[in-house]
Amino acid sequence: MQYRVEPGTRVDLSRWDPDDVAGTDREAAREEKKQLSRRLRELQELLYAEHRHRLLVVLQAMDTGGKDGTIRKVFDRTNPQGVKVASFKRPTERELAHDYLWRVHPHVPGDGEIGIFNRSHYEDVLVVRVHDLVPKTRWQRRYDHIVAFEKLLADEGTTIVKFYLHISKDEQKRRLQARLDRPDKHWKFSIGDLKERALWDDYMAAYEAALSNTSTDWAPWFIIPANHKWYRNLVISRILVDTLEGLGMQYPPAEEGLDEVVIP
Ligand code: ATP
Ligand code: MG
Repeated sequence: MQYRVEPGTRVDLSRWDPDDVAGTDREAAREEKKQLSRRLRELQELLYAEHRHRLLVVLQAMDTGGKDGTIRKVFDRTNPQGVKVASFKRPTERELAHDYLWRVHPHVPGDGEIGIFNRSHYEDVLVVRVHDLVPKTRWQRRYDHIVAFEKLLADEGTTIVKFYLHISKDEQKRRLQARLDRPDKHWKFSIGDLKERALWDDYMAAYEAALSNTSTDWAPWFIIPANHKWYRNLVISRILVDTLEGLGMQYPPAEEGLDEVVIP
């Protein structure tokens, strides 16, 4: 599939164009996105009704990369009852007193659910690596743990798709400036984000390692060109619809004798 990181390949992010729209016409994209949203709604209802599959969507990106906007726009028509979002912020003391997957596992989706991770266990090989929050010997082993953890989830019936929203450093500058220029967006602006921005190259190296080491057949990464929000939403919607259609889901059989029922 387009934008998929083939397992075992090494990712060089400078070769992935964050501005790519693959020649797509924006008006046509609007219509296609609307259709995809409707289809996603039907497929989610089917997932919920069948109660057999679980879908885990992992979202990772640099600050302003568009994780929140993706959740809002891609899942705009889905039923909130069947979609659970878990946001992973800086770990609490209690979380830090455990292994890094301890806080993650309780949030994986159950039968019939779509679980969305807004940031994820990948922070433990991204921000943790960039800031040396644990020694290299420790974070280096985590790629293998993560691959094994996702294999466990997949073996037990979870379909996993992971999206890295790829924006350029210039685009991040524009988005940060836009937040600064609008008082109603100041709540989203954190001066701390500028410190992370200064470490852009280190983050890119950490993302390249994560994408290269953990894209598997059971939990593939997709590198989504994300400078253009409309294209980002379109591509992610397409991948989700394809993935759910691939599950061959069926509505559960109706109770016997429904055709004879007369509502009194
Ligand atoms: P976001 O930045 O995801 O849009 P936000 O701005 O509302 O959300 P923040 O307070 O910035 O929330 O929380 C996210 C921060 O938590 C990020 O800087 C992220 O790197 C950090 N974080 C997440 N998981 C970990 C982790 N395991 N260890 C250290 N820091 C983490
Ligand atoms: Mg933030």
